[in-house]
Amino acid sequence: MAGSGKLANVRLPPLPTVGELIKLYNLRAEKQLSQNFLLDLRLTDKIVRQAGRLKGAHVCEVGPGPGGLTRSILNAGAADLLLVEKDTRFIPGLKLLSEAAPGRVRIVHGDILTYRMDRGFPANISKKWEEVPPNLHIIGNLPFNVATPLIIKWLNNIADRTGPFVFGRTQLTLTFQKEVAERLTASTGSKQRSRLSIMAQYLCTVHNCFTIPGRAFVPKPEVDVGVVHFTPLVQPQIQQPFQLVEKVVRNLFQFRRKHCYKGVEKLFPEACRDELTQEMMQKADVDPTLRPTELTIPHVRALADAYAHLCTREPGLLSYEFREELRLKRLLRKGDTPVDAFMDT
Ligand code: SAM
Repeated sequence: MAGSGKLANVRLPPLPTVGELIKLYNLRAEKQLSQNFLLDLRLTDKIVRQAGRLKGAHVCEVGPGPGGLTRSILNAGAADLLLVEKDTRFIPGLKLLSEAAPGRVRIVHGDILTYRMDRGFPANISKKWEEVPPNLHIIGNLPFNVATPLIIKWLNNIADRTGPFVFGRTQLTLTFQKEVAERLTASTGSKQRSRLSIMAQYLCTVHNCFTIPGRAFVPKPEVDVGVVHFTPLVQPQIQQPFQLVEKVVRNLFQFRRKHCYKGVEKLFPEACRDELTQEMMQKADVDPTLRPTELTIPHVRALADAYAHLCTREPGLLSYEFREELRLKRLLRKGDTPVDAFMDT
C-alpha cells in the first residue's frame, strides 16, 4: 500500500532510547525548572494522537527536553517540526534526533514566552480564520509554571489573531497540572468553574483529553497531569477586546462564593459604584444573585457588553482598578501625602 510505504519512510531509524540519551548527555532534571520527563513512548504517542492527523503537518513543540514527545511527533509523520527549548543541555540530544529525520527538524534555543512564532513558519501555510484550521499544530509538555502564563498569552493572541494565530486557527495540544486542566474545561455550575474556564471557552473549543498519573513522569511530580486540546472558534463567544473581557471576568471571580454583583461593584469607583452596578446588571439582564460559577458564557457576554457600553460613555472607567484604589487608600492611611502615594505606583 502506497500510504503505509510513505509512513514507513517517516518513522525514525533505530536510536538510543530516551532514557539512554538522558544518561549519555547527563541530562539530570532541574528541579527549579520543574522538569519532569515522559520516557514511555506509548504515552507520548497517545498525547500526539490528541492533536489529530499530523502526516505532512507543520508542528511547533514547546519544551522538547530529552525528546520523547518529539519522537512521537516525527513518527506521526510531521513534515516540519520546530523545537523551541530553553535549556541548552538538551540541544545535542535534539540534534541527534534531527539527524535521524533529515530536513524535518529545526531547533531554536529560546524561550517560548518571547519567541516570535509568527515568523517561525512560511506564510503560505496560512488559512483564512473562517476556513478549516491550518496544517499547523502546537504540542508541548511544559513546566506548570510556564504552561499557565503561556496559555493566557496565547488566548490573548487568539483574540487578536497574532503570534501563532496569524496562520489561522492553529490548534494546541498541551499538558497542565490536572487541576488547571479541569478549570480550563469546567462547565457552568461546576466546582472548578473559574476565570480560566471563561477565558478559554469564550475563544476556543476546549477538550480535556485524558489524565496522566504523576508516576508516569521522571522524576515524579507531586501532581497528576491533564492533556488539553484547544481549537480556536471561528466566532469568539464574546465580541469585546480581550483586556476588557479579562477585567470583567477577573472582577467577577474575585468573590467566587458571593453573588456576582459583588464582583461587578468593584468595576466602579466608590463615588458612582451603586448606581453604575445597578445600571450594568439591568442592561445585561443577569440575575445579580447568581454566583460567579453559575454564570454561562452568554451571561458574561451580556455583562462585558454592558460594561463596554458604560466605558464608552464614562471616559476613564476602563482604566479604573479597584485594587489600585484600595492600595492608594492604605498608603494614605499610613500618613503619606497623595503625591508620595502616587509616586509609589
Ligand atoms: N517535553 C519533554 C518531555 O515530555 O519529556 C520535557 C518536558 S519538561 C516538563 C519541560 C521542558 O520545557 C524542559 O525541557 C524545559 O527545559 C523546557 N522549558 C521550560 N521553560 C521553557 C520555556 N520558557 N521555553 C522553552 N522551553 C522551556
